[in-house]
Amino acid sequence: MASEKWHFRVQSAVIIDSHIHLFQNRVLSDRSEFLHKDKAFCALYSPPKSRLASRSQIIDYMDKFSISKAVVFGFPWQDPELFRENNDAVLEFASRKPERIIPFATLGLDNADAACVEVERSLKSGFRGIGELSMYENGWDKASIGTLNDCVRIASSYRVPVMLHVNEPVGHNYPGKVFVDFNELLATIGNFPDVDFILAHLGGGIFFYSLMPEIAAILKNTYVDTAATPYIYDSRIFDISVNLMWEDRVLFGSDYPLLGLERYLREFEKSSMTDAQKNKILGQNAMGLLKLTSGE
Ligand SMILES: [Zn+2]
Repeated sequence: MASEKWHFRVQSAVIIDSHIHLFQNRVLSDRSEFLHKDKAFCALYSPPKSRLASRSQIIDYMDKFSISKAVVFGFPWQDPELFRENNDAVLEFASRKPERIIPFATLGLDNADAACVEVERSLKSGFRGIGELSMYENGWDKASIGTLNDCVRIASSYRVPVMLHVNEPVGHNYPGKVFVDFNELLATIGNFPDVDFILAHLGGGIFFYSLMPEIAAILKNTYVDTAATPYIYDSRIFDISVNLMWEDRVLFGSDYPLLGLERYLREFEKSSMTDAQKNKILGQNAMGLLKLTSGE
C-alpha cells in the first residue's frame, strides 16, 4: 500500500535509483531453504533484519520518494538454476512496469559456461545491462576474473553497461565485503575501453587514483554508485568523489531495501555539493548513461 507522500526538498526533476535488489518469489516467501544453498546469500541474508523487498514494496518506495525509474537486479547466485530464476523474476517485473523498471541481469561467476550462456540469454531477452556482478565466495581469483572478462565481452557486443560490486581494500569487515585487487579490476576495465562500467559502492575508492593520468585514461567510461556508502564513509565522500572529476559519473544507488533515498539525501545535505551536482547524481547522470528520456 502506498504510504504517505514524503516531503523532503528534492530539487531534482528526475530521480533514478540505480541499485535495487529483487529476489524471486520463493526466496521472498521463505528464505530459509536458500541459506543452505548459497554461502554468500547466507552471509548477507541470514540475519532476519536483512530485508528482502517485494515488487510492490519497491514500487511503494519509488512512489514515496518520487523516484521515476530504478535499475533492478537479482543476486549473483552460484547455482545457475537460481540465477536464471532470479533474472526471470526481474524481467517479469520490468515487463509489467516498463516505464519505471530497468532490468539488469546478474549471475554467479564460478561456472564459466553457465555464466556466458546466461549473459547471452538475458541480453537477447531485453535486459538493459549486466550486474551487479560479484565474487562473494571465491574473491577475485583467476578463474572468476576470466569468467568476468568472458561475460563483459558478450555485454560489449550488446553495448550495455556492466555493474560490478567493488569494496574498499581497507577498513572494517562486513558481510559481502570482498577483497578487490585494484590492479586486476583496472586490467579488466582496460580490456574493454568501449564498455561503460558501473562500480558499486563508490568503486571501493578507486576514483581517487583517477588523479593519475594513466588511471584516468582507463576509467574514462567508468561510473560509480553510492550504494551503502552511508555505512562506510562520512559525508565528505560525496564532495570528494564529485570533485575528483566524477561529477558526471557518480550515480545515486540506494541498495534498497538495505537503505532508501532519504538516508542519502540527509548525507547529501551535509555535503557542500551544489544543487546542480545533486541533480546530476540523483538522476541526470543515469539518464545519460542508460540513454533514458524522462517520458520513456
Ligand atoms: Zn554490492
